Amino acid sequence: MIPISKPYFDDEDLEIIQQPLKKGWVVQGEYVKKFEEMFSDWTGAKHSIAVSSCTTALHISLAALGIKPGDEVILPSFTWISTANSIEYTGAKPVFIDIDTRTFNIDLQKIEEKITGKTKAIIPVHLFGLCADMDVIMKLAYKHNLKVIEDAACGFDSYYNGKHSGRFGDTGCFSFHPRKSITTGEGGMIITDDDETAKICRSLRDHGAVKSDFQRHQDKYSFLLSEYPYLGYNYRMTDIQGALGTTQMKKAKNILEDRRRIAKIYDEELKEITGIELPLKDKDYIHGYQSYVLLFRPEIKKFKAIENQSEIRNKMLAEMEEKGVITRQGTHCAALQKFYTEKYGYTAKDFPNGNIAEKLSITLPLFPYMKDEEISKVIKTFKETCKKYLS
Ligand SMILES: *Cc1c(COP(=O)(O)O)cnc(C)c1O
Repeated sequence: MIPISKPYFDDEDLEIIQQPLKKGWVVQGEYVKKFEEMFSDWTGAKHSIAVSSCTTALHISLAALGIKPGDEVILPSFTWISTANSIEYTGAKPVFIDIDTRTFNIDLQKIEEKITGKTKAIIPVHLFGLCADMDVIMKLAYKHNLKVIEDAACGFDSYYNGKHSGRFGDTGCFSFHPRKSITTGEGGMIITDDDETAKICRSLRDHGAVKSDFQRHQDKYSFLLSEYPYLGYNYRMTDIQGALGTTQMKKAKNILEDRRRIAKIYDEELKEITGIELPLKDKDYIHGYQSYVLLFRPEIKKFKAIENQSEIRNKMLAEMEEKGVITRQGTHCAALQKFYTEKYGYTAKDFPNGNIAEKLSITLPLFPYMKDEEISKVIKTFKETCKKYLS
């Protein structure tokens, strides 16, 4: 069986996760700090703040930027559900905008019509490792005085006009879940260039403390607790995760190069197949290929036809699984998950492209150091299946 994804760990990873245990300091400490420094070096951000996940990174960012009940926050319809959930946690209303199926990112043409007096922020998502068009988004944000929180969960080592994802908005939020390009098991990171935002984010991840436990323990008289001026959360990263983060960063260059190498082989080998659309390539973007996601029958736009073609896609993916190749739909249309349809009354007709992306996307296996036989098997199996169902 070829899995959809596989985290890459080596002896260096296995060794370093023992260090916090041996030292006896396992919560946020020196390794988390080191990981943050390495992340800032990589992205060029002034501040990196490690947290327990990208979901908590988004929540802290929204809270730090003052998003509150009654506010509205714009996001794309087709994204992992936690982008939307993080907005709900603050009491604000998520306002979904449909996507462009060519990029799987927010449809830039449809943003402005949804901006109201209550709109306070926008969360562009860099889905699957392709950046959203941040020029357009930052101009809109400036014009309407909106905060920008980038959901860069999939955006590690993804660039737009030469700048790393997460560096455009007020904050950028990353994920180190095992499905992402580098992993700490669970884990997340907030980046920002703003000192004040960084200070509040650091405090909010740590119960609202102004001084971390680690800092306090370094001091001579450590018996007095910190002060807690904010309503904070316990969203800290453990030092075991932080340690793993440092060794993952050391090999990030090789991991990312290998992801791009495999994506290029898929691009070459699959380009002749009619009836599918491969991930967008554009000179202004460097794709990080957190996932290699293509669109099946991209020309289909009629609602009923989508349903029919979706059944065919599902048959194809089932057949590939039987032949030992695991695939996935790209992600889901968060706006069409039960919590959101029940609360806001949405239907698939409100998000035609999000619906198409959910029903017709296909993710192929892609992970670092896939063997040549594995890559060939994915290509061969996919081509055979397309031949059977697409002619
Ligand atoms: C993975 C993912 C998240 C959530 O990341 P966690 O670290 O699992 O919380 C959020 N948004 C997008 C687009 C993702 O792909």
